[in-house]
Amino acid sequence: MTRFNWQDCYASLFAELTRSGLQDWRNLLERQLQQRFDESPHGDITRWLTALETLPEINDARPALDRSAVALISDEWLSEPVQQQLTTGLRGLMPWRKGPFDFFGIHIDTEWRSDWKWDRLRPHLSDLRGRQILDVGCGSGYHLWRMLGEGAGRVIGVDPGLLFLFQFLAVKRYIEPEPRADLLPIRLEDLPRKLETFDTTFSMGVLYHRRSPLDHLLELRDTLRPGGELVLETLVVDGPEGYSLMPEDRYGQMRNVWFLPSCDTLLRWLDRTGFRNARVVDVSVTTTAEQRRTDWMRFQSLADFMDPDDPGKTIEGYPGPERATLIATRP
Ligand code: SAH
Repeated sequence: MTRFNWQDCYASLFAELTRSGLQDWRNLLERQLQQRFDESPHGDITRWLTALETLPEINDARPALDRSAVALISDEWLSEPVQQQLTTGLRGLMPWRKGPFDFFGIHIDTEWRSDWKWDRLRPHLSDLRGRQILDVGCGSGYHLWRMLGEGAGRVIGVDPGLLFLFQFLAVKRYIEPEPRADLLPIRLEDLPRKLETFDTTFSMGVLYHRRSPLDHLLELRDTLRPGGELVLETLVVDGPEGYSLMPEDRYGQMRNVWFLPSCDTLLRWLDRTGFRNARVVDVSVTTTAEQRRTDWMRFQSLADFMDPDDPGKTIEGYPGPERATLIATRP
């Protein structure tokens, strides 16, 4: 099995953590990565590393992070064999769920239009310039790139899904000098408890996967410095304050869905977990235009998880997916 050289991959982050007085976090992280990659590596790692290595060298590559598809561009004309090599490498990292991306003209139409989520919340965010940002459950890191495009000082994503890391690295390898962006293949719960360091923490599409949503909110709060901002996005249902839906088993075929609160319940949860000035900035129904099967994600998608006779209901008979975005401050 090919070994993933995580020491090199995270060298600049490690140095930065030491420089900024976060040596304890660095030590913990090194142990976690060693465990993840050296002691019990994922069976697909060799395949994903091979895909990464297949990606061709391209002169003059640079990012364009202010477009709906996070793009890598170059003035160099790509010959047919180079394009082929690029496609093979990118195909080797399928399925692509969160995006879209554009690699030198090869458009990756991902399962999710993650750019739509970004467009909905962007007008409500504080100026991201210079901010230290944590994105919990960052997927492929699509939104990390968009944050960097807005001038963020450093972005760190955490997501235990390993394929996402290699999709993130496929973008990162083309950006010189090395961008201040990292994706850690760990869970929020694996961070040191009281980091209290980030200016903004995002948690989008994660809360309903947590069996203890209030503990998730407390963990998010502990990542923020006083005055720091939380951006929370999760599934909600209609209902009064105090109400939340717990599905009997699956929700839209997803396992591991625990609590779907009403917006007012969510505001109460944020208040009770010590956030201030919490507000709902957006509520949107998720449609089969936003989440769908594509050529780069060929498994089932939202249309297959909805009731064929009632487009407003999931296949289990629950209200169809509706998502709220909330912003709150840590005092
Ligand atoms: N934030 C992205 C992706 C949401 S999908 C977006 O909004 O488009 C939810 C992601 O959360 C999945 O990739 C999953 O691996 C991750 N996740 C689930 N539990 C997590 C946890 N405890 N800590 C960090 N990430 C988690």
